[in-house]
Amino acid sequence: MTAFTYDALPGRVVFGSGTARSRLRAEVEALGAKQILVIADNVELAGELSSSFAGRVAATFTEVRPHVPIEAAEQARAAADGADLVLSVGGGSTTGTAKAVALTTGLPILAVPTTYAGSEVTPVWGLTEAGRKTTGTDPRVLPRTVVYDPDLTRTLPVELAAASGLNAMAHCVEAFWAPRRNPVSSAVAEDGIRHLAAGLADPAAAEELLLGAYLAGSAFAVAGSGLHHKICHALGGAFDLPHAQTHAIVLPYVLAFNAPYAADAASRIARALGVTDPVAGLYQLGARLGVPAGLRELGMAESDVDTVLADLHMPADNPRPVTAAALRSLLHAAWAGKDLT
Ligand code: NAD
Repeated sequence: MTAFTYDALPGRVVFGSGTARSRLRAEVEALGAKQILVIADNVELAGELSSSFAGRVAATFTEVRPHVPIEAAEQARAAADGADLVLSVGGGSTTGTAKAVALTTGLPILAVPTTYAGSEVTPVWGLTEAGRKTTGTDPRVLPRTVVYDPDLTRTLPVELAAASGLNAMAHCVEAFWAPRRNPVSSAVAEDGIRHLAAGLADPAAAEELLLGAYLAGSAFAVAGSGLHHKICHALGGAFDLPHAQTHAIVLPYVLAFNAPYAADAASRIARALGVTDPVAGLYQLGARLGVPAGLRELGMAESDVDTVLADLHMPADNPRPVTAAALRSLLHAAWAGKDLT
């Protein structure tokens, strides 16, 4: 029997090559903005994209930092004084800074993403204070409008595009067992995997990757986060590991752990990847894309596995019961980069 509850999320999406240059002004006007705070880590790009409404740009904030330190959030909030719109142009860290502003000011966000992070379609915010990252969910931080322009992601270095695309893949895979999963989020996740796999196979296919990233973020926003994200969050928080690479390394090991207990998810993931064994398929995809072989290659010490374990809150409804012993062996395998083929 199928039974579920589904809270659909609002938001307008404009997708297409060239849209950041041709459609941004109209989207700013549709939101009735007169005083815009631009948040960006690439000043030149933001200046170029806002040149047709430069008279309405009240301030530009460029001190974007990974994982949104509270100090950066407070500076950005101060810069928002008098603004009626936040325009963010950048990756997940930039969108995250815009979200920190929206969280306390209630200002609407117009997001122009330049990576495959997917944050622009989620109501999830994150802030780091005294080395500890806190996340939360608030409808105020969900951007009102997102302009997805694949021309902007084409400048990503190949390595970063691959890691960011695999990070989006993690959103899709996890959506199959995350706490608020439903048939809609699973359908979106499956199609997201299909587009991401096509995009990752061809470095020139920025459009496939960006569409996949949008679907991935949308599935993640609805389904929520599960075992994989809890592990990566604990790893990132404790050792300041690079976000996208950490996700890319850990994902096949979480899938290997859950797949025997999540047959439907495993077969849908395999189908979307175009392989017979989803675990081997995902592992090989990462290897082909040059994902570091294990967390040890990111500089983490093996003894740190225990530090992470102490920090982990086990998800209650993971398909496979999560015991401390099982988690320890999963983390050791991900640390060593154990071959999953
Ligand atoms: P990022 O925004 O930190 O960007 C990584 C690097 O890529 C930066 O140096 C940036 O300047 C550069 N860059 C960005 N776009 C570029 C482009 N088009 N060409 C060349 N260089 C470019 O990294 P990210 O992976 O996009 O985002 C990671 C952050 O987003 C993490 O803090 C993560 O927690 C957060 N995140 C949040 C959510 C959410 O729902 N709240 C979802 C996903 C990620």
